[in-house]
Amino acid sequence: MHFEDFKLNQSVNEGIAAIGYTAPSPIQELAIPIILEGKDLIACAQTGTGKTAAYLLPVIHQIITAAERNDKVKALIIAPTRELAIQIDQQMEGFSYFTGISSIAIYGGGTGMDYEAEKKALTSGAEIIVATPGRLISHLNMGYVDFSGLKHFIMDEADRMLDMGFLPDIQKILSHLPKTRQSLMFSATMPAEIRRLASGILINHEEINLAVSKPAENVLQGAYFVYDHQKIPLIESLIAKRDLPLILIFSATKNHVKELEKALKQRAFNVKAIHSDLEQEQRKEVLNQFKNREIQILVATDIVSRGIDIDDISLVINFNVPGDAEDYVHRVGRTARAEKSGLAITFINENEYGKFTRIEQLIQSTVIKLKLPEGLGEGPKPEDFKRSPGKRKFIPRRNSKPRK
Ligand code: AMP
Repeated sequence: MHFEDFKLNQSVNEGIAAIGYTAPSPIQELAIPIILEGKDLIACAQTGTGKTAAYLLPVIHQIITAAERNDKVKALIIAPTRELAIQIDQQMEGFSYFTGISSIAIYGGGTGMDYEAEKKALTSGAEIIVATPGRLISHLNMGYVDFSGLKHFIMDEADRMLDMGFLPDIQKILSHLPKTRQSLMFSATMPAEIRRLASGILINHEEINLAVSKPAENVLQGAYFVYDHQKIPLIESLIAKRDLPLILIFSATKNHVKELEKALKQRAFNVKAIHSDLEQEQRKEVLNQFKNREIQILVATDIVSRGIDIDDISLVINFNVPGDAEDYVHRVGRTARAEKSGLAITFINENEYGKFTRIEQLIQSTVIKLKLPEGLGEGPKPEDFKRSPGKRKFIPRRNSKPRK
């Protein structure tokens, strides 16, 4: 399928081409036609699936092709955190570049000047608002926000908003919106309380459920709670005890990958690294050496996790908790290929417990937590972790700048 098949306005297609997307992702293929028809929708899709463009593109198209164009707010997107609001706003900026549409992100905690700029945008004409609930409520309380021209209401990461206790804020925001509008909800999970919320907000809605990917059943998954300084000794201990010809270790960034390669070399391991600083030819060479078992340990960033097609990887180690469930599934999927069983171990430090719990929720299984081997000392305990499972602390900090 091609983006042209959606028959979006030419200026939107130009934005998509400028950003460099070549084909729609599955959630986009499913959601865009429904949204273009003006229907309400609930979509179960994780971050990383392209869900933001799935609602931004058809909403932008509808706004710029509407019979009536005026300065009123046409679309409101609410998101649980400022990080997500910023990400949405950045994508918005790319897509709307050729359309002349105006938007603003409102995400709390800024200076008086930011507040004034937000107030101006809210009163005189940003067509699309991306906001975190708390900050929007403080503007709504001042009485000047005019949502009478609003046509589209979008909740992104609805499950996280409920987790963070935003339900009363959401209800308050809804009370300010016109009853006739298109409402869209995106959520990574679909628990009963999300369905309850959806039934109160959406009318005659459509539903999309992208199957949550899960690691293959024959992957044995385990995890250790470790401090960073214990990670390399733990690798030594894991490898020493087993006959493991091919080991793939994932780390978050290319710098971490390079450091890890160095540290393991110093301990006399047969190791090489692969990351985006290497030329294509060099990457191929390293992968071939790994395939031919000339090297035992390959340290990599996620760039290779999707592409590596090597059977018989005996152990995958996540040196850090991956960014999202999709990355986790892709990393872990490098072992246990072709019906063989495999082992995947994740290291969780004291800052990553919440992130890992969320991955467990998405893959719908609890990964066995293993006891650190003798001699490594005590690892962090769950009660030491900074975040409670599945919840994230919301720290409003700074404010957005208006555009246009
Ligand atoms: P999201 O799930 O909306 O957070 O998007 C995840 C990432 O995928 C973002 O960096 C998007 O820019 C990117 N993305 C979204 N749709 C596409 C697409 N059709 N082709 C390539 N990248 C995409």
